[in-house]
Amino acid sequence: MTKSDITDIKQLLSKPKQIVIVPHKNPDGDAIGSTLALYHYLIAKGHQATVIAPNDYPEFLKWIPGESNIIIHEVDTEEADKLIEEAELIFTLDFNALHRTGAMEIPLAEAKATKILIDHHQQPDDYAKYIYSDVSICSTCQMIYHFLEMLDDKYSIDSKIATCLYVGIMTDTGSFRFASTTATTHRVVADLIDKGAVNADIHSSVYDNNSYDRLQLLGVALNNLKIIPELNTAYISLSQKELNKHNFTKGDTEGVVNYGLSIKGVKFAAIFIEHKQEGIIKISLRSKDDFDVNEFAREHFDGGGHINASGGRSNLSLSETITKFVSILPQYSKALKE
Ligand code: 5GP
Ligand code: MN
Repeated sequence: MTKSDITDIKQLLSKPKQIVIVPHKNPDGDAIGSTLALYHYLIAKGHQATVIAPNDYPEFLKWIPGESNIIIHEVDTEEADKLIEEAELIFTLDFNALHRTGAMEIPLAEAKATKILIDHHQQPDDYAKYIYSDVSICSTCQMIYHFLEMLDDKYSIDSKIATCLYVGIMTDTGSFRFASTTATTHRVVADLIDKGAVNADIHSSVYDNNSYDRLQLLGVALNNLKIIPELNTAYISLSQKELNKHNFTKGDTEGVVNYGLSIKGVKFAAIFIEHKQEGIIKISLRSKDDFDVNEFAREHFDGGGHINASGGRSNLSLSETITKFVSILPQYSKALKE
């Protein structure tokens, strides 16, 4: 983002505007945290702001300040489309291409509003007039903090904004343990705590609200974990039947893929989750070091993401998808063995 972009945006925000803020489909902690942080900031500045999420988000995020004001496009389509059409300014956060918003893609593409993209995924599309893209930053929430810094408005961060930003930084860094966590991340987080984010309570609200079913499902996932030691790869599968048996709800499988990566020596981990209703297998990929799972997901599974965390999908059956995955791996044997 250039100095002149910032000057333009300051100018745009100098008078009350109708603003829509959009996270990606299946929003995670970073998507919900960043959109709500910006929402609180804009409301405090006198704008009319609305967060419109493509679809619902996990139970463990349903306590974040302001979340009850989020409009779900899938549920209130007409109202959401009207807001998008009438918006003067649209912020799209935590995604790099409009198709990542599912059914919101067309209304967003057709909207006359000035668009501002803030995101840390690779290779952003150029649908927005203003683009703040940085793949080296751990989370969109940290970017919102820097964005407010650039607007010379860091001092507007109150405890609500600090809490929202803390959630996304914490969830996208695996609680500050991934390589994307930098000294700057820690300085930002320290400042958020100073500004009223209660770190232990936030951690507890997000991570200590498991249901018995969720833990039983984790047990099934760990039981299904397979390892290909010669290729330093581990993968997990969950069928629709297994999900149903443990009353699966959104968010129950969040983070399960990381167990594969926690095995000594494993560099590449995958999880395959059957979604019978949509007729797809949803895939999450994680890696260590420089094994690029963004590239892997783009090349083979119609997806994308970051170097060490990506996702995609397959229209094959669960077993066919796994067979395809296993058969592709030897092409990467050099990189996986390094
Ligand atoms: P997750 O595995 O947690 O769903 O996603 C990991 C990362 O990959 C996230 O940053 C997410 O935005 C990205 N991602 C997940 N699924 C897709 C997909 O289908 N397409 C693209 N382009 N990115 C994805
Ligand atoms: Mn993110």
